Amino acid sequence: MQHRKADRFVYGYDASIFRGSDVLAIAFPATAEEVAALVRLAAREGLPFVARGAGTGINGGALSQEAALVIELSRMNRILEVDLENRFAVVEPGVVNQDLKRYLQERGFGFNFVPDPGSQVVSTLGGNVGNNAGGMHCLKYGVTSNHIMGLQVVLPDGEIVEVGSKVPDRPGPDLTGLFVGSEGTLGIVTRITARILPLPEAVVTQLVLFPDVNAAARAVSGIMAAGVLPAALELLDRKSMTLVDRAVHIGYPENAGACLIVELDGIRDGMDSDVRRVSEICAAQNALSIQTAETEEESHRLWLSRRAAYGAMARVSANVYICDGSVPRNRLAEAIERVVEICTGHGLDVINLAHAGDGNLHPLIPLDPNDPDARERVIVAGREILEMCVELGGSITGEHGVGVEKQEEMALMFSPEELGAMLTLKFALDPDDRCNPRKIFPLALFPPRTLAAAENRLPRDAVS
Ligand SMILES: Cc1cc2nc3c(=O)[nH]c(=O)nc-3n(C[C@H](O)[C@H](O)[C@H](O)COP(=O)(O)OP(=O)(O)OC[C@H]3O[C@@H](n4cnc5c(N)ncnc54)[C@H](O)[C@@H]3O)c2cc1C
Repeated sequence: MQHRKADRFVYGYDASIFRGSDVLAIAFPATAEEVAALVRLAAREGLPFVARGAGTGINGGALSQEAALVIELSRMNRILEVDLENRFAVVEPGVVNQDLKRYLQERGFGFNFVPDPGSQVVSTLGGNVGNNAGGMHCLKYGVTSNHIMGLQVVLPDGEIVEVGSKVPDRPGPDLTGLFVGSEGTLGIVTRITARILPLPEAVVTQLVLFPDVNAAARAVSGIMAAGVLPAALELLDRKSMTLVDRAVHIGYPENAGACLIVELDGIRDGMDSDVRRVSEICAAQNALSIQTAETEEESHRLWLSRRAAYGAMARVSANVYICDGSVPRNRLAEAIERVVEICTGHGLDVINLAHAGDGNLHPLIPLDPNDPDARERVIVAGREILEMCVELGGSITGEHGVGVEKQEEMALMFSPEELGAMLTLKFALDPDDRCNPRKIFPLALFPPRTLAAAENRLPRDAVS
């Protein structure tokens, strides 16, 4: 357990632009039993606690809203079992997403754990489950909840329970689904049974340039309406292309106002006709050029423009606010136009990326962390973007979750009765709201705090 001031300070941050309360101490358990002992200690002392993976969440979910014990799961990073016949892997929550993918590929298993958030090189399976993470390939394969078969969870009273199973179609309510996406507010996940899928026989990546976002968005709708289901369909606007070009020198022509990265995968038979169909649809929307990767190396190069985008932001701004909302895919062009209007109205720059197939917008708004006025304007613009998403029939989150960032915006999507029902569930498992407290739901819906000030309540003999 760490409790030096500097250690505690850094755990007050994650990848969001928010700052948590000071943490009391950080514990690094190695087993589910140690997690349970920590949770029981917290229960005995009336302390809030927060589960933490790699801290790459963008909604402030791993930040504590009040002085709390952080339970950091990076030591629980073992891959416990791989069963190819039944297509699952059992892992601990601290396993890094890409480490599981590598393990399955490098050992020649020919299998993959599909969810691939942009943070996959560092984010953990526990965090992926917590936030129900998405990624570039969730258009075809679904988000994390579609790939989790069972969980071991330490409940807020310290009891260790198992939900789901290693076989599909278990009867009764979907308790696994209840925990996936609950952002660590219902318990701490200590073991994960994850679905694994064979790698596709063939993969074709295309980079298509368009004169503007409208044409690219129409191509997205056209592809989906034609019954072709790409594995990935990513959109970059002109500003993203310029940003990426400066960093990794793709060489986009001046007249390209937007681009799509289209990836098709599956069995080899029939792949050519899907590629042709996508090319025809893009051409009909005035595509300026269509480049199809001939080799794996070329495919990596085409993907670079998307994968390098977050890193490239560091060249232009000390910090960035990554907004996450979704709209019906046929409203994508309109939504991006309104994002630009909203940001311009607040005197802010904006760069638009989108998991376009899912209608999932990711406007990136550069931010000077030392300018409180700019920060406020960014937060207001973020709220207006989410309001616009809901107005267009979408959602306040495409994949990043709610955390502290969007808890008030939950009221845009759910009635007081619906929010009340969700909170009833939360309090059934965590009556004192100590498990990642005061998250996800509007703050006014939480009863006034009854816990005594936690700062001085961590017994010194528990800290070693
Ligand atoms: C550059 C970048 C790109 C990103 N791209 C994507 C993307 O494409 N798609 C996407 O969905 N997200 C993306 N994210 C957001 C983030 O990386 C994901 O949500 C990721 O799943 C978080 O994992 P983590 O290990 O960092 O979790 P953390 O940030 O540590 O925690 C996330 C949440 O899960 C809870 N939690 C963590 N571990 C557990 C556990 N064992 N049991 C219960 N709850 C737990 C935490 O309390 C918190 O609420 C991106 C982030 C960055 C910085």
